[in-house]
Amino acid sequence: MRFSIALPVLLALVPSATNAFFFQRTPPQGQQRVAAAGEPELVTAMAGEKKATTKLSAATMTATKPATEKQRKFEGVYTGMDSKPFPNVEKAFPGAMMNSELKEFIADNLKANNYNLKTTLVATSLCCDEVNRPLEAELSDMFNTNFNMGGLAGFPFGGATSFGAMAAHIPDDGSCFVVYGPHVGVDSEGNVGTVERRGRQNGGACCGSAVAASNYVAGVLAGDEKAALPTSPLDAQQYFVGSMLLPHAKRLERASDKMVELPFALYDAQSELMGRILEQAGGAVAGNGKTAVLGGIQINTPPGYSDYYLPLSFDIYSGGEVEKELMKKGAGAPKKFPMAAEVYPGALTNDELTSKMRQTLKSKGYDESTTLVATSLCCDEVNRPLETELADMFDTNFNMGGLAGFPFGGATSFGAMASHIPGKSYTRPPLRRTFAKNKVRSVIMVLIC
Ligand SMILES: [Zn+2]
Repeated sequence: MRFSIALPVLLALVPSATNAFFFQRTPPQGQQRVAAAGEPELVTAMAGEKKATTKLSAATMTATKPATEKQRKFEGVYTGMDSKPFPNVEKAFPGAMMNSELKEFIADNLKANNYNLKTTLVATSLCCDEVNRPLEAELSDMFNTNFNMGGLAGFPFGGATSFGAMAAHIPDDGSCFVVYGPHVGVDSEGNVGTVERRGRQNGGACCGSAVAASNYVAGVLAGDEKAALPTSPLDAQQYFVGSMLLPHAKRLERASDKMVELPFALYDAQSELMGRILEQAGGAVAGNGKTAVLGGIQINTPPGYSDYYLPLSFDIYSGGEVEKELMKKGAGAPKKFPMAAEVYPGALTNDELTSKMRQTLKSKGYDESTTLVATSLCCDEVNRPLETELADMFDTNFNMGGLAGFPFGGATSFGAMASHIPGKSYTRPPLRRTFAKNKVRSVIMVLIC
């Protein structure tokens, strides 16, 4: 029993091993629900190229097999999902999760924060584009149907009124979970900002509203006149997409890939608006109810592949105030180095890695204060920053590693480490990150070892 909560975290410096550890929950191909016996027509459909049909056609499912209780509950909305990984996404947006992984990520985090999914109302703020509905169908599968706060490009155009209305629909003694973000397509050739669409030879822009707004802000930056504040609702949303993107015009012009930078800029603009909505209307959630808010970028893929979502922030609000940050904000994270992801698709930044590790271990019942971390990483000083990040979570690491990262400490080092595993929880001293990053202190640590 003790082992189940106190097993050390052993890190080997082998990318494939790291991936196996973190992505073990991804269903292997061939074990997907669509391949189940008794559903030959569905299997054929899923192997075909019409993503929207296979994802959303209730008629296909009804004709093939009697609906289950769950299917009946969401009849006409959700019947299945494309779950095949799409490597082009992992290359363009490292750290993005397939919808199936995202569902687990959400459930783990909410449960760890005392959410009861049965009394949780989900609200979304995702772009109007029909390619974004499958994620809502997946969320409906977890929580029941979603309240929709979103409009063009994913901005929460329903505003404070929509939040207040949503809060009034939360089941008694329950809480709400809000997911928002812009979206971006990645096509089968790896182009970002477009995606193949059902029944069309040319996919076109994805997100179209976002691309139109980026053209608008580039024009204003080049000297064009700003659009006038609309006096009619005829096209008011697109005006505000453009005006809220305007502060990011220079950033987009400087970006090495504008289509990759665009959703990050929109995310920042949407986060600002969502923050203001919560400030004004967050108090509408009754009693002890909380508001968990997940922000990120939704990534659409060609037919037959899973869609993705890149989480960038996850906060729990009490009223209009942030009570707890479940992950570090994307804006504050160290800059990504795109070539690393190009050479090793699926590689995560240290921040992304520790964030994912934290969630995974928590969901498996680990208590960070009674967990000892052991590393087996090469002697080279360039490898110490990762150990510093780990020390933030677990306290300093037992070092099993030697040249090239081999665990040269061997079985004896593992045994010694095992005898150091904390028996009970304790309060760790603050400022760990500060001292661990201090080079003089690092030398002292080496001497102690
Ligand atoms: Zn869109």
